[in-house]
Amino acid sequence: MIGTVLKIENSLLAAVPRKAYRSLLAGLEPVTLTFGDVLYEPGQTIRHIYFPGDSLVSLLTLADGHLALEVGLIGREGMVGIPLVLGHRESSVRALVQGTGTALRMVSARFRDEFRSCLPLQRELYRYVHALMAQISQTAACNRFHVVETRLARWLLMTHDRVKSDQFRMTHEFLGHMLGVRRVGVTRAAQALNKRGLIRYSRGDITVLDRAGLEAAACECYEVVKDMHDGKRARQGTP
Ligand SMILES: [Zn+2]
Repeated sequence: MIGTVLKIENSLLAAVPRKAYRSLLAGLEPVTLTFGDVLYEPGQTIRHIYFPGDSLVSLLTLADGHLALEVGLIGREGMVGIPLVLGHRESSVRALVQGTGTALRMVSARFRDEFRSCLPLQRELYRYVHALMAQISQTAACNRFHVVETRLARWLLMTHDRVKSDQFRMTHEFLGHMLGVRRVGVTRAAQALNKRGLIRYSRGDITVLDRAGLEAAACECYEVVKDMHDGKRARQGTP
């Protein structure tokens, strides 16, 4: 039942004033997103938007119809379904659940109405779109210029920030998609971080052992993107 969802896990929703949030809540449905679920495919009409709680959704762009590369990661700081904010009804990317967890979803037609009438929501979403664009463009540069080990460290930190747990599950195959490399490249990079005592990686289970060390091992892209989202958070207390 919607009324039982008292804790606002998603920081975009948490930043909307309480009165506006109550109005939004009537159209929000709690769902569990499961690892491997595809929420949108490129060219598909978006039927629902999602505000993740402790779930994680990866945006993947496809090349040659089958090669997938992660270009964005969305968790509790954001919303899945941004094309609707910009007036488009179709997704240009695949949205794939990479971390099982909670989310609130809303039917697209209702979201468009709420978005038009709720100025605080508009303000938060425009800030978020700006941060997401920065994340996507930084990721493009990162994929081109930075080595796999530093990119893996960055990706683990981004995941760690969103799931708020030291342990999460991720297969080699999935990490390969995230990083755009073959399994052997993932294995080498994970072993290197493992050997330095920063993580423990065993059969798809990742444990972050040394957060500060992982930050030192990541490329600067992590800080650049985090600053964008932190800027948004820092302003949440302002009217
Ligand atoms: Zn980078």
